[in-house]
Amino acid sequence: MGFLARARVKSPWILHYCTGGCNGCDIEILACLTPLYDVERFGILNIGNPKHADILMITGPVNWRSRHVLRNLYEQTPDPKVVIAIGVCAATGGVFHNCYNVLGGVDKVVPVDVYVRGCAARPEAIIDGVVMALQKLEAKKSGGVSYAAGAR
Ligand code: SF4
Repeated sequence: MGFLARARVKSPWILHYCTGGCNGCDIEILACLTPLYDVERFGILNIGNPKHADILMITGPVNWRSRHVLRNLYEQTPDPKVVIAIGVCAATGGVFHNCYNVLGGVDKVVPVDVYVRGCAARPEAIIDGVVMALQKLEAKKSGGVSYAAGAR
């Protein structure tokens, strides 16, 4: 693995997007950035531009409006990339799954590499999901190993 690829795995930049949930999982993601969990000490940065991201962190169920944005963000993120679905809504639609405007989980629109369970997902589980995502990112960068969705 080259220097640039190694740097991206050691200091991953994350784009966070909520496709339409209750924001409970988003608050837990923000908790990861507070001094209590402080994921920035591992080089993990929350950024606002998909073109700079290595990892897409998605919360909430996908609805008819947000599916276009999600697809757009995914396509703008450079390869190789990893997608983490945070919380039960991002996995299946959760409590919103029967709503008239909801498609379902994130994997209805883009491929998902890691699922983090919970409603809301706990910060410890989110950090654990990022660690798993980094392993998948490293494998994608070094050998092009393909992983099926649904690791967690
Ligand atoms: S999984 Fe729970 S906390 Fe997270 S967005 Fe859905 S309803 Fe809200």
